[in-house]
Amino acid sequence: MNKRWTIVKIKDFVENNSESKLLTTEYHGFSQKLLFKCSCGSEFEKTFTKFKNNHQRKCDACQPPKTSR
Ligand SMILES: [Zn+2]
Repeated sequence: MNKRWTIVKIKDFVENNSESKLLTTEYHGFSQKLLFKCSCGSEFEKTFTKFKNNHQRKCDACQPPKTSR
């Protein structure tokens, strides 16, 4: 049931599903924060889980974190 993500697959996912780019070149696991570059030019860090499952696909300036549920 575990889908194996590699840095190549993640990069593909990022480029196909967002306007951001992946700057990190190595993937070590779900808890790792990856470095992205937003379409606005800002760089931001997020785990891939958040990026993918929580749809946090832009920097905090373009997509402010939700404070309430
Ligand atoms: Zn941005």
